[in-house]
Amino acid sequence: MATQEKIRGLIIVGAGPAGLTAAIYASRYGIKPLVISENIGGMTQEAWHVENYPGITKITGKELMKKIQTHAKDLGSEFLLDGVGEILRYAQNDKVVFQLKTVSGKMLKAKTIILALGLKNRRLNITNEEKFLGRGVSYCFTCDGVFFRDKIVAVVGGANSAAHAALTLAEYATKIYILFRKPEMTAQPSLIQEIKNNPKMEILPETQIKELQGNNKLEKIIVYKTNSPDDTNEIIVDGLFIEIGTVPSNILAQHLSVECDEKEYIKVNNSQETNVPGIFAAGSGTNATPQLNQIIVSCSQGALAAFSANLYLKNSTRS
Ligand SMILES: Cc1cc2nc3c(=O)[nH]c(=O)nc-3n(C[C@H](O)[C@H](O)[C@H](O)COP(=O)(O)OP(=O)(O)OC[C@H]3O[C@@H](n4cnc5c(N)ncnc54)[C@H](O)[C@@H]3O)c2cc1C
Repeated sequence: MATQEKIRGLIIVGAGPAGLTAAIYASRYGIKPLVISENIGGMTQEAWHVENYPGITKITGKELMKKIQTHAKDLGSEFLLDGVGEILRYAQNDKVVFQLKTVSGKMLKAKTIILALGLKNRRLNITNEEKFLGRGVSYCFTCDGVFFRDKIVAVVGGANSAAHAALTLAEYATKIYILFRKPEMTAQPSLIQEIKNNPKMEILPETQIKELQGNNKLEKIIVYKTNSPDDTNEIIVDGLFIEIGTVPSNILAQHLSVECDEKEYIKVNNSQETNVPGIFAAGSGTNATPQLNQIIVSCSQGALAAFSANLYLKNSTRS
């Protein structure tokens, strides 16, 4: 049964770099935010190594996010590991209140919200992709890679996230196929070199997947060369990791009539305000800086969103 809660000052949805930094700043303003997120660390958990976060020469994405979460907790932020399924806006005693319903059924209320929702993985949209999701098909190598110890896997994609996936999976799997449409991988040269140096990797350029086959779980992928779609081959695999890009995760914004741009990024002004008073947004899911999807950029937007949310709370208690 759903449980009722007090009205909090601020709830932050999403615990990637943007949400965690917003939590640090909000805590220092004395707001004591609640952070609700499906996971801690967001996309950064998937980073094999982060080498561009100022002050830290080299660290895994997971370790960096753990440090930032610990920092936020030490300052008084609270965390709830859950998804937010719905947010509604209503008036209570002439004040606007937001009500959040989590996937596990908890009901929470807040005067203001920061959406730090990030991006979600793009689907391939091929036959049996949904059928084998969780039964061989995955969009999260950090979550599922460990289940493929001593197995054969394929990674689809040629950019940085696919390269990070392949290198992480090499810790578990015996063989990794890397398939991509273009003649060359577009990942950072250092990652490509690491892949080329690893004897477990087999690189298949100009290759696409037609369909997935298996009985109760994924057993093989049917592939073709980009320039001869009718000439198919099968590859026996236990797992398929799809790393072909991302789209904004904006369904909650839609519930609230928060405006998004034509590419579905949440629209914010230079104070991280959305068009809905009391709703702020930060990070890679906003239209602020889609040209540079990086940890430090999301962190800076998170800090600014917390600053603006604090001002909003101060002004609303005065009125
Ligand atoms: C493999 C890989 C390697 C990378 N390496 C680097 C690097 O070396 N350096 C660098 O600067 N950047 C790197 N990046 C990019 C970096 O990870 C992103 O820029 C950063 O994570 C964006 O942070 P964010 O907080 O905006 O969003 P995200 O990290 O995507 O976090 C969003 C959070 O919101 C949660 N969420 C979404 N919807 C809901 C909901 N409805 N309910 C609850 N929670 C929800 C998600 O689960 C997630 O935790 C890398 C990315 C990848 C994939």
